[in-house]
Amino acid sequence: MMRQAEAGLFSVRLHVVGGRLGAAQLGAIREAADRFGRGEVHLTSRQGVEIPNVREDSLSALKEFLAPSGVGVGVCGPTVRTVTACQGCRVCPSGVIDSPALADAVDHEFYGKPAPHKFKVGVSGCINNCMKAEENDAGVKGWIEPRWTGSSCTFCGVCAAVCPTRAITVSPETGSLVIDRSLCIGCGDCITSCPSGAMSEESRGYRIFAGGKFGRKPFLGKRILGVLTTKEEALAAIAAILEFFRAHGKPRERFGDTLQRTGFPALESYVKEKAGLP
Ligand code: SF4
Ligand code: SF4
Ligand code: SF4
Repeated sequence: MMRQAEAGLFSVRLHVVGGRLGAAQLGAIREAADRFGRGEVHLTSRQGVEIPNVREDSLSALKEFLAPSGVGVGVCGPTVRTVTACQGCRVCPSGVIDSPALADAVDHEFYGKPAPHKFKVGVSGCINNCMKAEENDAGVKGWIEPRWTGSSCTFCGVCAAVCPTRAITVSPETGSLVIDRSLCIGCGDCITSCPSGAMSEESRGYRIFAGGKFGRKPFLGKRILGVLTTKEEALAAIAAILEFFRAHGKPRERFGDTLQRTGFPALESYVKEKAGLP
């Protein structure tokens, strides 16, 4: 919760995982805002809800009032914060992964646990990246990796034309097609546009980004590891990333700054070994 500019008042941040609330929970929050605040709520930039204008002597009563509805109070300080997530393949037609399921799993394991500084996790269900994975200490995107089968290819060049990052080079004269995996952003457009079925899915799953942050000194997180194919692998990767941060981060140092010192290869090696990942 945040101490407000006005003396004696607090803005109480609630624990809302992935921006999901049931209708009954919304009703409880509305009533709490009436009873303990001034009848208004604030929606935060990380999908959360805050009840502002709560008097210090009402904080305990507010928590007790909300508890039966399953709405808790958010954490602050050097801890793992509430996870953000889109609706993923549960709802969104573009979704590749079940973002809320991973958000719930991360929240269950790590929410409120200590870290050298705040540690944020965000999950985007696909490459459209509505949850801005690279702005998080650990970010996740749904990802589709293509596989080319030369025997079915007519070298029409459609896949190269639709690829948003020019990751594909087609050479009809030599009968070759090269996918530059370092440029591929896992959109799957080459697969859906291939008229002959020569481009298919090699893997579908979770891509991990580490070390991102926003605020005063923004830094975009970088991609580590290969495509992880299960929620459990993604969870293990995030666990190992957090362990690495605890081992190498200085107090009050954001993870992105830690990685500037250690380098990303050190993190990647650690995560691969600890979590047994590709
Ligand atoms: S990131 Fe993808 S799956 Fe998630 S809401 Fe955006 S378009 Fe849908
Ligand atoms: S779109 Fe399909 S058939 Fe055409 S070049 Fe690409 S892989 Fe080959
Ligand atoms: S998946 Fe997307 S980015 Fe990757 S090669 Fe295919 S079209 Fe290009």
